[in-house]
Amino acid sequence: MMNSTKMKKPKVGIYGITGCMGCQLNILYQKELLDIIEAVDLRAFPAGKEKNIHDNLDLVFLEGVVVNEKDLRELKEIRKKTKILVAIGSCATDGCVPAIKNFMNNKNLEQSVYTKKELKQFQELNPMPIDAYVKVDAYLYGCPVDKQEFLQFIKQTFLGKEFRTYQKPICYKCNLQERGCLLEEGIECMGPVTFGNCSVMCPHENYACIGCRGPYKDANFEAYFKLLESKGIPKETIFNHLNRFAGVKFKQMIDKEVKEKKINPLIPAPK
Ligand code: SF4
Ligand code: SF4
Ligand code: SF4
Repeated sequence: MMNSTKMKKPKVGIYGITGCMGCQLNILYQKELLDIIEAVDLRAFPAGKEKNIHDNLDLVFLEGVVVNEKDLRELKEIRKKTKILVAIGSCATDGCVPAIKNFMNNKNLEQSVYTKKELKQFQELNPMPIDAYVKVDAYLYGCPVDKQEFLQFIKQTFLGKEFRTYQKPICYKCNLQERGCLLEEGIECMGPVTFGNCSVMCPHENYACIGCRGPYKDANFEAYFKLLESKGIPKETIFNHLNRFAGVKFKQMIDKEVKEKKINPLIPAPK
């Protein structure tokens, strides 16, 4: 949840630290971009425009994950320059693919992904979502960020309305479409445990939700895993998806649940 006062023409910046640029491109290639440019003062968008003004910003959307000292320096600079900082996409909100490194040892990394030399530059910091280092005012989830949710956020900020993080899982909207349920059919859909408010395009097109928007904070993982078991779906498949998009946050959630509710640990501690 974020409070915002009505902004006449918000001074906006769109930036990225380490990431694949997919979120920034999703913004760049949306058909409403020209309307957005009319409505806001788009001061900085280095991925999309040549001349940029990096000071005195009201609102910054930031893509990417902190993997090294350079990212961290840039993140802290950006935080200082803006009133509102919005994390866009799973890298910024949850750590996404780069944060898988937190669950691997260097030897495996060296063998499976990087050479020793490449690995060195990734050893400065453990890859973390941006709120591990600075205050984040709002989160727009997804890999990539959802275009409609991004637009919704801009409109609400423009009108001075309060932005509230959507508080329902994927299943909520999916059920409104009155289609059959993939999970019921024995397909490993993550709808019940994933933050909602995307277009629900995956289940809509008959693909299981793989949880790109990260774990829904009130999700009942115990009940979910019991359901998977009853359908003969291995929970390792789900852990792989969870680790791909939100391993760090998921582990924090489960650690908290284990501590507070004394449930059985669902995932082994990272080595
Ligand atoms: S969230 Fe996904 S699309 Fe966005 S930068 Fe990260 S990997 Fe790319
Ligand atoms: S198909 Fe997936 S998202 Fe849709 S209701 Fe079933 S479990 Fe939920
Ligand atoms: S349905 Fe799931 S995997 Fe598909 S876009 Fe939405 S959150 Fe991501």
